[in-house]
Amino acid sequence: MTEPIYDVIVIGTGMGGSACGALSARAGLKTLILEKNPRIGGACSYYEKDGFHVDFGTHLFTCGGEGAIGEVLRRVGARSRVEFVQLRRFSRILGLDMNIPLYNSLLSIFRTSYRIHHQLGIRLREMPDVVRLNYNFFRMPDEDIEKWDDRTMEEYVMQYSQNPGLMAITNVVLALYFVYPYWKTSAGEGAWASKAMIKAQAISYPKGGAVIVHQTMLDAAKDRGATVLTQARVRKILVEKGAACGVELEDGRKFLGRAVVSNGSLKDTVFNLVGAQHFPEDYRKMTDGLEQAHNAVQFKIALDRKVIKEGSLIVLGSPHGDFRPKTTTVPQVHRVYEDLLSGRLPELVPLYLVVPSNFDPSLAPPGKQIIILCTGAPLTTSKWVDPPEVWEEAMMKALREAIPGIERHILWKEVVGAKAIESWIGKTGGSCVSTAQVPGQVGKKRPAIRSPLPGLYFAGDQAGGRGIGTELAARSGMECAEILDSDFRNGRIS
Ligand SMILES: Cc1cc2nc3c(=O)[nH]c(=O)nc-3n(C[C@H](O)[C@H](O)[C@H](O)COP(=O)(O)OP(=O)(O)OC[C@H]3O[C@@H](n4cnc5c(N)ncnc54)[C@H](O)[C@@H]3O)c2cc1C
Repeated sequence: MTEPIYDVIVIGTGMGGSACGALSARAGLKTLILEKNPRIGGACSYYEKDGFHVDFGTHLFTCGGEGAIGEVLRRVGARSRVEFVQLRRFSRILGLDMNIPLYNSLLSIFRTSYRIHHQLGIRLREMPDVVRLNYNFFRMPDEDIEKWDDRTMEEYVMQYSQNPGLMAITNVVLALYFVYPYWKTSAGEGAWASKAMIKAQAISYPKGGAVIVHQTMLDAAKDRGATVLTQARVRKILVEKGAACGVELEDGRKFLGRAVVSNGSLKDTVFNLVGAQHFPEDYRKMTDGLEQAHNAVQFKIALDRKVIKEGSLIVLGSPHGDFRPKTTTVPQVHRVYEDLLSGRLPELVPLYLVVPSNFDPSLAPPGKQIIILCTGAPLTTSKWVDPPEVWEEAMMKALREAIPGIERHILWKEVVGAKAIESWIGKTGGSCVSTAQVPGQVGKKRPAIRSPLPGLYFAGDQAGGRGIGTELAARSGMECAEILDSDFRNGRIS
């Protein structure tokens, strides 16, 4: 093989890949960024239809420009190029006898908590424990976060309250954070992410669509001499003398690099792109055993007028009408996620709905509205007892019940199913967070960014980082760029 041409080759333009690529180029490293799709952005990419800008995923940015994403943009000198738009009433919980507006302000926390607990029918004598639960969770000191990293959110809640309604709502919120049941997700990670959100007070959506963040990072990379290629699917990561040394594309092109960064899932990278034989047995075992978060079923709906006022909605639906947060029981709450894990449509179907054109009206033709909604669904690699159509029907029913008359205003509706997500992001199974944030997989125990194969690194939602979705991936990308910079400086990469 000839001398390496690139210092760093990044595979993928998701949030982690874009952040790492931009920061590496900024650090003076000769950087090549490869994307298999015709458009950049991974889960935050988009397409256009009839004058609507349609997000590929369903996104709100939990820390706007004030968290890891903002930090990456600042470090590459591009923070002012992205405008994160905040709406005072950014969301509303709607359906199954609940109607609670959510405001983007710390002051409203008490009013919102009161409404939630009142509508859940929590008795006055239970309230002190519930207040303590919230207070201690949202203000958890760092040393306690570390302790709670390895325990579940359910264990945390149970210390204070066993009210099933409260568990149901905690479940819905945690599923929004981590796309996984609250009885499996890490309480430490939940507290860490909540504190980051409260500190930032910036839940928002960027002007120009979710992809503008990635586009801005990649433009900054190009300004520093990086090359970005789309329709460049990596078939293989090349290994020579026990180190990653480049990539081979599906079309046969080869690029050599001193370091390779994968933005794909850890499992795909280890077992498909590199080959298990290049890793020690304990690493192979660890990778094979990683838990992945759920996939999703999504609707993209164009409306002929502005039907929804809020920037987003959390719609609660019950396909057979037998789930009510106020009267639910602990076993029924558990069954919701047991069903989901075993491929059955659960009794509670929560929809996460974002209205991008309420943040940036230019994303829809004048007077019209684009809404994007999803619900959690099993991985494509799991057994689906109920087929995707059953999920889709339940989603439409929940939407119709929460927003009566919406159907009259639908211009068109498209489904982005679990298989489409898997294929677009290039992660087998199509997990929304490819290394789930469960005990043993967060904090100090999160898979490392530096792999045991010299020259191979990870950036994205599979290794390193903390926080919710895009924030997790951006932080991982930032950590990866810092590690690369240090490894180049101290001669660890030759
Ligand atoms: C439906 C849905 C809703 C979500 N909602 C939110 C939300 O509201 N807020 C939030 O913060 N997060 C949300 N998330 C999670 C968030 O989108 C992801 O966690 C995050 O964007 C993942 O970023 P990533 O860097 O890991 O890469 P990804 O976005 O997963 O992208 C990986 C990239 O790598 C490319 N790639 C893979 N293999 C190859 C290959 N062999 N060759 C070349 N390129 C390759 C892919 O094409 C893709 O572009 C949601 C996710 C989904 C799917």
